[in-house]
Amino acid sequence: MIDQLLVATTNTGKMREYQRLLADLPLRWLSLADLPESLPDVEETGTTFEANALLKAHAYSAQTGLAVLADDSGLAVDALDGAPGVYSARYATTATERNAKLLAALEGVPPEGRTARFVCVVALVLPLPDGTLTLAAEGRVEGSIAYAPRGENGFGYDPIFGLPDGRTLGELPAAEKDAISHRARALGKLHPLLLTLLGQGK
Ligand code: IMP
Repeated sequence: MIDQLLVATTNTGKMREYQRLLADLPLRWLSLADLPESLPDVEETGTTFEANALLKAHAYSAQTGLAVLADDSGLAVDALDGAPGVYSARYATTATERNAKLLAALEGVPPEGRTARFVCVVALVLPLPDGTLTLAAEGRVEGSIAYAPRGENGFGYDPIFGLPDGRTLGELPAAEKDAISHRARALGKLHPLLLTLLGQGK
């Protein structure tokens, strides 16, 4: 049974989402910023979202002895053969520059050629007396790249990720993003198990 969980991210946008998505779980969760000593960054050397999420969850759990939830996420654009994909965070220096670079890469591409999806793999690592329990789940949200950024909500690529109803993810109130997001869908798959581990499951 666990009573606390380390959410291994330094991304404040992601952390805000986890805060909301984990709000109903009866556990104390903490972020990397809450640890008494800062831990060395874990290099994302994997070539898949799953590999990187597992890498981060295992490394932070080994370093702290805590149950750890880590995610790796990004945007896969069909016209760019799935780029920026696992390199989404490294596509350019700031979120504004990343969005501008992606819009430029798709200049002149018609609406039907702009399809894309957000992918998130959430990995959970629980230290046990004789090893670790490791789980991972993936969530996706389908959309297309807009022609210009719109909306002040969310973070990262949200302002240029268009949804079927014409809005961008950046225009959605937090609760609406949480109902459809890749992160919420991935975490939703682990949710029943987290409840069981917390002694609240059926
Ligand atoms: P990482 O998972 O920390 O490697 O970061 C993935 C990259 O994708 C970062 O640039 C994030 O800003 C971006 N990203 C991940 N999830 C979202 C999201 O929900 N909305 C917008 N951008 C996201």
